[in-house]
Amino acid sequence: MNNKSPPKSIGVLTSGGDAQGMNAAVRAVVRTALHQGAAVYAIYEGYQGMVDGGDRIREQSWDDVGSILHRGGTIIGTARCAAFRERAGRLRAAHNLLLNGIDRLVIIGGDGSLTGADTFRREWPGLVAELVHNGEIDEPTARQHPALMIAGLVGSIDNDMVGTDMTIGADSALHRIIEAIDAIASTAASHQRSFVVEVMGRHCGYLALMSAIAGGTDYVLIPENPPPEGWEDQMCGRLRSGRAAGRRDSIVVVAEGAQDRAGKPISCDYVRQVLEERLGEDARVTILGHVQRGGTPSSFDRWMSTLLGYAAVDEVLSATPESEPQMIAIRYNRVRCVPLMQSVEQTRAVARMIAEQNYAGAMELRGGSFTEMFDVFKAMAEASPSVTAPVHPRRLAIVHAGGLAPGMNSAVRAAVRFGRDRGHVLLGVRGGFEGLLAGRIEELTWGDVEGWTGLGGCELGTNRQIPTVEQLYAVARAIETHRIDGLLIIGGWMAYRAAHQLYSERDRYAAFKIPLICLPATIDNNLPGSELSIGADTALNAIADALDRIKQSAMAANRCFVVETMGRYCGYLALMSGLAGGAERVYLHEEGVTLKDLQADVEQMAAAFRSGRRLNLTIRNERANPQYTTDFMCALFEEEGRGLFDVRRAVLGHFQQGGNPSPYDRILATRLAAHCINFLSAQLESGSAEGAFIGLVEGKVTFFPLSRMSEMVDWTYRRPKEQWWLELRSVVRAVAKSPDADG
Ligand code: ADP
Repeated sequence: MNNKSPPKSIGVLTSGGDAQGMNAAVRAVVRTALHQGAAVYAIYEGYQGMVDGGDRIREQSWDDVGSILHRGGTIIGTARCAAFRERAGRLRAAHNLLLNGIDRLVIIGGDGSLTGADTFRREWPGLVAELVHNGEIDEPTARQHPALMIAGLVGSIDNDMVGTDMTIGADSALHRIIEAIDAIASTAASHQRSFVVEVMGRHCGYLALMSAIAGGTDYVLIPENPPPEGWEDQMCGRLRSGRAAGRRDSIVVVAEGAQDRAGKPISCDYVRQVLEERLGEDARVTILGHVQRGGTPSSFDRWMSTLLGYAAVDEVLSATPESEPQMIAIRYNRVRCVPLMQSVEQTRAVARMIAEQNYAGAMELRGGSFTEMFDVFKAMAEASPSVTAPVHPRRLAIVHAGGLAPGMNSAVRAAVRFGRDRGHVLLGVRGGFEGLLAGRIEELTWGDVEGWTGLGGCELGTNRQIPTVEQLYAVARAIETHRIDGLLIIGGWMAYRAAHQLYSERDRYAAFKIPLICLPATIDNNLPGSELSIGADTALNAIADALDRIKQSAMAANRCFVVETMGRYCGYLALMSGLAGGAERVYLHEEGVTLKDLQADVEQMAAAFRSGRRLNLTIRNERANPQYTTDFMCALFEEEGRGLFDVRRAVLGHFQQGGNPSPYDRILATRLAAHCINFLSAQLESGSAEGAFIGLVEGKVTFFPLSRMSEMVDWTYRRPKEQWWLELRSVVRAVAKSPDADG
């Protein structure tokens, strides 16, 4: 029968420098391809494997990519391959692909690897013709594979590709750097010493800038935006004034490719010399090097790479010979396809601009939020502690409400330093709204919040108590007594409710007619107007860590683990940790749970164990269903799976709220806090008194008036009416369950 075309065959390879998260991408490519009925081959050792052929190109089954999500590096290997740079090498590569029927490729690598792929694609028809001419393949084979269709994923810890907001590995590298900076900060503080830390990034200052923000360091040097002439004085002045305000550790972060305005490289050793000579104190250099590439991938690198791998398969399977090759990118918190070569060319243009000292052009190509964060860092670091207060400083109070979210301290620190930089007096309210009523309010200075950026917990204290109707009068009195001109409320659902209440009662209490802003901070990620709240990323990392351990323990025996995550009625943590942790099934309140579902799931589970599986991971949101509780599910699975597997439960609980904030949460907290202070300042300057909540919508900082809160939330289940991440459920289904395992 010739009306049935053979299955499409996809090859996947990792090339160039390795990056954490590549394994998650490979796993997603393999499983999505199998799910869609395609054949999929791993090409080992990058292009070298393609040139060598033989057993370096191997068909993959579902289980070949099991248990690799947590592993750093790339299990299919990567290499630099000189032969692939030559046409002769690419001819061999084409032959080897055709021997396996492969004419679709997903390449995971940096700009070099992606350029190589594009050259290969353009040459493909000529290579195929030559192979026919040489008698190495026959005409029908050539006709079946007239074109090579490619999709690129960017694996690069530097986050240096224009066109995508994040590259695979960059977030994990930031984790490594921040672990190091946190460690250095404590030893530096003990000895009152200065440290110069070099991070990777030859043409890209992303890692340096973000680690300077997340690490709360004093100074940063990046290639795209060299410091002004005489920067040595500026740097030493900043360190001196920080010391005078009580800072004990001074850290300067230097990107590998840092240079001055004249294009002369700035070495760590030079920075050290300057510090020693001008400050007359001990300075040490730490070059982080390959540590940044190592270690287990962060939760973000696991789930984001999974989404990218899934989308790449969609892209190569639907591509036609005429399609322009695409790079699968993350733009504004969504997966998007962008023209591959345009991104590669722009990335090269940045390097060129830096070499030509066209720094404005380089910053422009890095994009708006990079420039914004550079300015944020400057403003934070230059929030001189000796600022002279204006004649009529305004008094801004900061209060928390709701559950604990890692990153709350980072937000307070940023707000205090920004606010003081703008000439305001910043007041910290201890113990949430109860503290406000009890008058536990004190001024916070620059030095008071020193070291808070990476501190877990919540220094000011938070709780779920918000004012009752009877207490509103006392709240109004407290605002008047302490002459509070503006209020920043950092917290979760209860914080938003309290703000909404104060805002709604403005007509009755004149004291509430002050500018009010809510900053989203909750691990549950259940707030309106923001796709991400502070704390959620840290919680996901904590869960991924726990799941790694649980999975390891479970592998020893045939076991099903039912893990319960927090989130109240919001399934964000459950779904995203399911993606990051490789769960077979995730139960959410948003979807509901039926007996029919449970029956089908347990049957599939049994079938999988029968066919050799040793582990099943099920994640259940704590309120997925009031009757089908975690205990109920465990009992049901145990009963039905008797003999085949045993069942254990793990309720992760408050473990998820603990720990120091992740780099991303620190950065987000800083960014949002800066915008909140700007909002309050602008309101006070213009004499307005709006109430709003801030958040990230499609990656952009957005404000919503408090008056819109009611229309945006589901009050019963305490979550936004629209939740962007629900659309990711199809990815979980595609990568979690083998198409052969349907019971
Ligand atoms: P990265 O992909 O991380 O930028 P490289 O630039 O070292 O790393 O590229 C990795 C591999 O990709 C190279 O060893 C080579 O095999 C292939 N490659 C890179 N650039 C080209 C090119 N212009 N033409 C063909 N192959 C290339």
